[in-house]
Amino acid sequence: MRARLTSGSPRGLYVRTFGCQMNEYDSLRVQRLLAAQGYVVVEAIDRADVIFLNTCSVRGKAEQKVYSFLGSLRRLKELKPNLKIITGGCVAQQLGEKLLDRFDHLDMVIGTRAVNAVGQLLQRLQESGGRLAWLPEEENGDLTPILYSSPFPLLFGAEGRVRGAREKWPDARYPAPDTRPTPGLCPVTAPVTIMQGCNNYCSYCIVPYVRGAERSRPPAQILDEIRALEALGVREVLLLGQNVNSYGKGLEETVTFVELLRRIEAQTDIARIRFTTSHPRDLTDELMLCFAEMNSLCKHLHLPVQAGSDRILARMNRGYTAAGYVEKIQRLRRICPEIGLTSDVIVGFPGETEEDFRKTMELLDEVRFDNLFSFCYSERPNTRAEAFADRVEKGVAARRLFELQSCQADITASKNLSEVGSIRDVLVEGPSKASNGQMTGRTTQNRIVNFQAPLSSTGQIVGVKIAFAYSHSLRGDIIAK
Ligand code: SAM
Ligand code: SF4
Repeated sequence: MRARLTSGSPRGLYVRTFGCQMNEYDSLRVQRLLAAQGYVVVEAIDRADVIFLNTCSVRGKAEQKVYSFLGSLRRLKELKPNLKIITGGCVAQQLGEKLLDRFDHLDMVIGTRAVNAVGQLLQRLQESGGRLAWLPEEENGDLTPILYSSPFPLLFGAEGRVRGAREKWPDARYPAPDTRPTPGLCPVTAPVTIMQGCNNYCSYCIVPYVRGAERSRPPAQILDEIRALEALGVREVLLLGQNVNSYGKGLEETVTFVELLRRIEAQTDIARIRFTTSHPRDLTDELMLCFAEMNSLCKHLHLPVQAGSDRILARMNRGYTAAGYVEKIQRLRRICPEIGLTSDVIVGFPGETEEDFRKTMELLDEVRFDNLFSFCYSERPNTRAEAFADRVEKGVAARRLFELQSCQADITASKNLSEVGSIRDVLVEGPSKASNGQMTGRTTQNRIVNFQAPLSSTGQIVGVKIAFAYSHSLRGDIIAK
């Protein structure tokens, strides 16, 4: 039985999230679940009664950040002995009790399949006064309850913008746990997890080990959640999964990702649909056609290529060749010429020669992505690549990354420049963080656009004539439609 606080001042919950959008979604679920026990999110860490730290271990650097943040909490715990510190996410799953051994001020470690139980676990922790590591092999029961708890009420900031879980939240402005948001002050875009885990076992990647095997969520639940979001004013959903285009395996009803997209368009009124991430091997012609045929599907595809050398792609266990990847991109661009494309690249993978790296640079030149996320290879425990002996020197990998990022910066700048003069439909997300009274939004291709507009335009799709291009954004003027 969950305890529900009915009197006294609410307890403070401070959430810190490292890593990907899946982690942000999980953090929102934790906020929602603990809100049901009377917790409100606080922005000042020293006002917290519970700290939830959601961790990422996809690269070594992300893991180090977690350790240094955990270390910095020791003093606070000394000052507030009743404070409960909980760690979840991929580092928690990977290390379990070892994390409790390493940080004696840490109270609880929960695995990636235990998020749904955070309320009961916290209660058990408080009752026992001890320390706890809980890393179930399976979700408690099926995936339904785990994924279904909508993280909703705590999403609302007073400015009417979606606020990422990474950002600080103005606690004074939070609604009490059970209050509904004020109409008009709703988030414009919201994440919806459609699947968890991954079966691909790319040789560098820790995700299948810490997130488990691929599990898809039944379509009816996804549709229900989208309708619920829509009723609260959400205009755009971001469908999340490690490999969304293999959605549907193992479900009772046979539903492909394309069918799911079509159902969302047909059975909800959501204005925009986005999704991430897709695997190049699973990109079908049917999915490409969706970009041309579906009004609500944003014309943006994030399709991680990782490398341009077939030898490296095979060692990465990616299941496609560079030519196969480029051929799919060409086909997609024929089907939907306006498609915006972004990708991920790893440099310095074990055995990557200068010649292999040149092939990646050639691929960049040929495809000309709108934007790119690029990383130096980071060795991860238990992955197949950990055993590859032919490591690339750190300095060499760093030099390659610099060259790759400089080349991409030029491509992105010239693509942004070519937007000047065009008129784009922009979904207004809210006030721009950076600039004086401006509003911000995104084009269907996922480009950020800032422009002068009233706050009341939040949530509307407006036409904006692009006047200036910057390295990461555009600026323009609203036009009358
Ligand atoms: N599922 C997605 C996919 O198939 O690409 C992305 C998952 S991963 C969390 C996000 C990105 O991190 C990957 O595309 C890859 O570029 C990068 N990444 C994963 N493992 C890495 C490692 N060991 N070293 C460096 N980058 C890595
Ligand atoms: Fe990792 Fe590959 Fe799965 Fe993406 S597809 S999560 S890179 S194993």
